Amino acid sequence: MNTFIFEKQMKIFLATLISVFFISGNVFAQKNLLTKENITTVVKEAYEKYKNVTDGKNADYIKELATVDPNIFGIALVTTDGQVYTMGDVESMVSIQSVSKVFTMAKVIEEQGYQALQDKIGVDATGEVFNSITAIERMKGKEINPLVNPGAIAATSLINGSDSASKWASILQVHSDFAGRELSLNMPVYISEAGDNLRNQAIAHLLLAYGRMYFDPVQATDIYTKQCAINVNAKDAGIMAATLANGGVNPVTKKVVVSPETVMYTLPVMSTAGLYDDSGIWFYHTGVPAKSGVGGCLIAVVPGQFGIAVISPPLDKAGNSVKGQLAIEYIVDQLNADPYLIQPSK
Ligand code: GLU
Repeated sequence: MNTFIFEKQMKIFLATLISVFFISGNVFAQKNLLTKENITTVVKEAYEKYKNVTDGKNADYIKELATVDPNIFGIALVTTDGQVYTMGDVESMVSIQSVSKVFTMAKVIEEQGYQALQDKIGVDATGEVFNSITAIERMKGKEINPLVNPGAIAATSLINGSDSASKWASILQVHSDFAGRELSLNMPVYISEAGDNLRNQAIAHLLLAYGRMYFDPVQATDIYTKQCAINVNAKDAGIMAATLANGGVNPVTKKVVVSPETVMYTLPVMSTAGLYDDSGIWFYHTGVPAKSGVGGCLIAVVPGQFGIAVISPPLDKAGNSVKGQLAIEYIVDQLNADPYLIQPSK
């Protein structure tokens, strides 16, 4: 080999070595914060920092939700390698409410593909409140998304199953698989909402009129109401979020719940429409896909790293858990977990 070629090859070799060193150094610089000690400290700090916050108020338009203990405050962070970090009350259960919309959406994508979800429901933010009827009217039932009520009821109606019982069984099963244990229905919450959900029934009928409801509207609304009344504690919700963070494989049970592609199409909708009218401001501050529910549950997903959930029933004006937002934002920030915090290449 002549010296010129040898020198050239040596230079390439050295350059590769140096860049590998810097790239891995960079990855370490970011990942370093996710040590056991760090996560434990940060989760504890978030709990201590916000446990005495008394802002917000339980939802009461579903009467049973007004009676839930407003002091429940639990945080669960679950890493994609299955480690579970908890603080506070991670035993008390609340109804999952709108957080369920994520998992039913994922099931529909899994069964029918992302294009069907886009064509039959839509994936755009409506720019209107979560149970807006004017949005359906304006868009003729199109351009809604599965994380607001019209799209969520349409998603329920799209779930495979020839009758109401089999659709419900499938929805409960996928939620259980995401959580890694058999979940069950909060009967008082279900009964309370079922007796008072005329607005959701109206939404389902209006969608039917526009050809955008794919099962009997009364039964679809009923299944949707049940789905919202599935009971979860903070640990369940944390594992559900972590299953999304882990590309659809439950990091604790190792069960394949949905495919990585399904997760890939689920997270963007959470990013644009996860926190009602405050979805934009949430995403601006944290950069992480999330979903809240009026029961006080908030989940967030840091892709490839961890899922996190907080349960705390008092909500702000937009309908999002006050302590949930504070605690998750703090943890994401302290762990440098915002995916848009990019370390420039050297
Ligand atoms: N079941 C509730 C409803 O349809 C869910 C609301 C929510 O959590 O956003 O009104």
